[in-house]
Amino acid sequence: MQSRKVYLDNSATTIVNAEVIKDMEAYFANIYGNASSIHSFGRQAKEALNNSREQIASLLNASVDEIFFTGCGTESDNIAIFGILNAHDFKGHIITTKIEHHAVLYSCQYLEKNGYNVTYLDVDKDGVISLEDFKRTVRDDTVLVSIMHANNEVGAIQPIEEIGAYLQTINESRNNKIYFHTDAVQTAGKVHLDVKALKVDLLAISGHKFYAPKGIGVLYVKKGTKIKPITFGGSQESELRPGTENIPYIVGITKAFEIANAYLEENNKRVLFLREELKEGVIKKIPEVIINGSGSKAVSSILNVSFKYIEGEALLVMLDMCGIAASTGSACAVGLGGSHVLQAMCVDPIAAQGTIRFSFGCYNTQNDVDYVLEHLPKIVEKLRLMSPMYKGKVLK
Ligand SMILES: *Cc1c(COP(=O)(O)O)cnc(C)c1O
Repeated sequence: MQSRKVYLDNSATTIVNAEVIKDMEAYFANIYGNASSIHSFGRQAKEALNNSREQIASLLNASVDEIFFTGCGTESDNIAIFGILNAHDFKGHIITTKIEHHAVLYSCQYLEKNGYNVTYLDVDKDGVISLEDFKRTVRDDTVLVSIMHANNEVGAIQPIEEIGAYLQTINESRNNKIYFHTDAVQTAGKVHLDVKALKVDLLAISGHKFYAPKGIGVLYVKKGTKIKPITFGGSQESELRPGTENIPYIVGITKAFEIANAYLEENNKRVLFLREELKEGVIKKIPEVIINGSGSKAVSSILNVSFKYIEGEALLVMLDMCGIAASTGSACAVGLGGSHVLQAMCVDPIAAQGTIRFSFGCYNTQNDVDYVLEHLPKIVEKLRLMSPMYKGKVLK
């Protein structure tokens, strides 16, 4: 049996960096105090919390009182969206896109059911919204814009700076300010995030997408933002996110973010090279494939390919038998039918069924790509020969 393992599902989650684990250890075993306690155990925990907040703030070009630690990316998105709406005493209009992660999409759908008006922006064939479309949808009663920085299925990067700049201009002459949130979970650690350059009011990131553990996130909230908590309890995180602070994980996400930013260019270059190798290999070795949403407006880590005439799930299972881990798109959408992202990009729905997302990370190597290119063409051919959709076709 095979023993080789190739992990190409880094957009679903990543391994935890060994240096991150090392930094976290002391906060489980020795410095385990509650950061709200007066005694030395608590004070040491508080110090770690303050240092982490300072470090994250500096990496995002924010100030310390604008950084809030949360339980995950999903929670950061939820606090941003519901927190802004709860702070307004009317049911304002929301603008988002058709390709958001479910943390945002399902939040907006829930709000719609509860009487809010939501506009879901279309995307082009590369998965990018149109700025002109966006400008046309802004209304007098718009209170929130929530648009992801990079999409998690195809990697498409949205024009966040341009949207932010436009909103800043029109906010000057409006009574009710429009707040701008971005889900930057897929760009954190891959793109230098500067909240001032992006011109956002809120920004969400999640540790487990850049080599920190699962279950820790950050929400940036610009000073002066009208926001209310959505859970209630103690006074932690300025009452916006009550609950005893998870110091080991806060130390972990901080260390991981520091490392990811320090090696960002270097890692991007390597990852881009490997992705292009795989892309070119796939195109060369396998007929009838569609590459979805590539191009310069995408993060370098994601390769999304539709293999015509086969089912993505079957392909995943067979790749897994060879030790290759990939995904059919969003891990969170598995089993729920077609991808809402590919649908919005107008990918042929039959071809979309045979879609696989390969997502690279900083630990992938050339050997990984070679191994995939050795097995993938054979598996695709085998599945196509069994596929009723493929009958009558002659294999090249
Ligand atoms: C993974 C992901 C999330 C959710 O983050 P969790 O920490 O898993 O809750 C949100 N948005 C995007 C774009 C993601 O890729």
